[in-house]
Formats: sequence, structure tokens, C-alpha cells
Amino acid sequence: MIEFTNVTKIYPNGTKGLNQINLTIEDGEFVSIIGLSGAGKSTLLRSINRLNEVSEGEIKIDGTSITAAKKKELRQIRRNIGMIFQSFNLVKKSTVQKNVISGRLGFYSTLKSIFGLFSKEDYELVNDALKRVGLSDKLQSRSDELSGGQQQRVSIARTLVQQASIILADEPVASLDPITTQMIMKDLQKINRELNRTVIVNLHSVDLAREFSTRIIGLRQGEVVFDGTPNEATNEVLTEIYGADILKEDLGEGQ
Ligand code: ADP
Repeated sequence: MIEFTNVTKIYPNGTKGLNQINLTIEDGEFVSIIGLSGAGKSTLLRSINRLNEVSEGEIKIDGTSITAAKKKELRQIRRNIGMIFQSFNLVKKSTVQKNVISGRLGFYSTLKSIFGLFSKEDYELVNDALKRVGLSDKLQSRSDELSGGQQQRVSIARTLVQQASIILADEPVASLDPITTQMIMKDLQKINRELNRTVIVNLHSVDLAREFSTRIIGLRQGEVVFDGTPNEATNEVLTEIYGADILKEDLGEGQ
């Protein structure tokens, strides 16, 4: 369970990224966060694993405060939170296997990690994860030889070997074509349903949010302005909150 209590983020230049967020996300939910560019989606998502330090308030993961956690505890909490990025964040010249097994790094001391002392079980986890995302035949391929969609599936596999119960995905399909987008979203949905992982995805497509999530959270100017089921997130409701721009496929990405 993830609990936000009165969370506010003010960036050093004075911009308010989040304003008094109060939210509870239960285990096993598939949450899409929507909103126009600059609404605070990325700030919210990255505050869950403390890639972004909040200015006020508290975030608890399974009852433990990540916002107050010291180094060792933070490392332990982060182990349980996987992250998928729009740009995949793979080591391009490394093999798929090496990239995926790096999901185990949080379980080892720095020294063991440096020498790549992974166990047989770790390698089995890699094989299982690649099978799940349909990339078993790419085990020894160099990551930069793969298509964008395949690279994103490698990064999903990395979160699987991490055995993280929470998966955060920051615009995971923003740079992918529509067919690949469907595949990646279906992978995330399958992982959510079959492995009961909590999935939280930032999206700039309302249609995708409605198609794949169990809950939609709408942000505007750092505040929660919608929180409901896909059925409740009708075009009429969203247009009333945001204006017609929210229904456009590209919500000002790159502006
Ligand atoms: P979204 O992901 O919805 O596009 P962001 O979370 O990236 O929105 O940004 C929310 C607000 O915070 C925006 O006004 C943005 O300009 C601002 N912001 C984001 N990152 C920074 C930063 N590093 N410094 C200053 N302002 C920032």
C-alpha cells in the first residue's frame, strides 16, 4: 500500500510541482496518472521511490515512511519498487541478460555487484522474466540491437527479476508506435493481473488509461482533480475538468 499524506513539492525555483496530495493506492491496483503536460505526473511518480524529494508531507510504503527513511532503509524500500522509463534506461552496449540481471543489484553488496557475482537462481529469474515478455531468444543480444518495444520489454523484465511488488512506469510508451504501445501496456496489465504487482503508469493518452487501468488519477497544477474508475472518466467529465485538450492523443509532450 502506498499512502500520500499532505504531500507538497516546491522546486528550488519556486514552482509548485505537487500541492497537498492525499492518496492511498492499494496493493494490486493498476493506476494511470493523467493530466496535461506540467500537471505534476512525473513529480508524483518519482516521489514514490524518492527520486524526487518532496518538500512537505509524508509517503509511506507498506506502513514505512520512505520520505523519512535513512540510507539503508531507503535502499531496502527501493528494492521493492521497480521503475520503467520512457527512454528505457538500459546499458546499450550490454547484453539483454546483463541488463535484466542488474535488477538483482539491490540484493547484493557493492563489492559483489562489481564482480557480477550473481547466483544460479538469479540467472533462472532472468530466463523466466524474459520468457514472460517474449524475449527468450534475445538473451545474448546487445540491447541496442533491439527495437524500442523490445528494449522496453527488457526494462520490464528487469523489474520482474527485482521481484518488486510496485512497478512505476514514467511515460513508458511515449516514444513507441501504436501497435508496440498496445503490446507494452498488455505486458504491464498481465504482470499486474497474474503476478499481482501494483502498477502505476504516467500516460498522456486518456484512451490508454481507460483501456488498461483499474483506476485513473487526474492531476492539474499539482493537485488531484479526478480519482475514479475508467468508466467514471468519461469524455464529458474530463472535458469539464481540463477542457478539450485532455482528449487529444498528444498532451503537449516536449513543450
Ligand atoms: P508532468 O509529468 O505532468 O508533465 P512534471 O511533474 O514534470 O509534470 O512537472 C510539474 C511542474 O513542475 C511543472 O510546472 C514543471 O515545469 C515543474 N518542474 C518539474 N521539474 C522541475 C525542476 N527540476 N525544476 C523546476 N520546476 C520543475
